[in-house]
Amino acid sequence: TDIKELLLSRIRDVPDYPEPGVVFKDITPLLADPAAFTALTGALAELSLRHGATKIVGLEARGFILGAPVAVRTGLGFIPVRKAGKLPGATLSQSYALEYGTAEIEVHAEDLSEGDRVMIIDDVLATGGTAEASAQLIRRAGARVAGAAVLMELGFLNGRGRVEAALDGAPLEALIQI
Ligand code: 5GP
Repeated sequence: TDIKELLLSRIRDVPDYPEPGVVFKDITPLLADPAAFTALTGALAELSLRHGATKIVGLEARGFILGAPVAVRTGLGFIPVRKAGKLPGATLSQSYALEYGTAEIEVHAEDLSEGDRVMIIDDVLATGGTAEASAQLIRRAGARVAGAAVLMELGFLNGRGRVEAALDGAPLEALIQI
């Protein structure tokens, strides 16, 4: 469709970043284009409302850039899920495996409660580790996951299965599949 073509046309391939052999999908041209950025946040907002979200979670760091305007457009609160050590208050944390080593993400425990239905927003779904850990974190905080929505899914990395398992029946939406 038109919007998918617009979004895709504003994503730049950067070869050998952050390491040799990786082609990084750079969304900064999309963010710099007001028509594309507005279309993207509008589509993510529509999905969030359709799936019954009551809170928007954005994943550090590009999930903040997308999730904050989605929260404003939907009239919902924004909650940051951050890398370990960045949030000042009492946190819940979740670690997950990377190709080499582990990573850890955190959320302020008081930001989520039992009645919440959370939409997880990020730019790119790669191996799915970040989104999977986020869904686990949200559930451990006592909230339900309404779904996850990303701009782009890198299908060749096969992250969808593990994220869907962690979403427990809630939808995983990707505006663009690569
Ligand atoms: P995963 O946990 O699914 O392997 O990685 C997803 C996380 O890494 C997301 O937070 C995403 O921002 C980042 N990421 C991984 N690969 C890319 C990429 O090619 N482009 C962008 N923009 N982000 C990426």
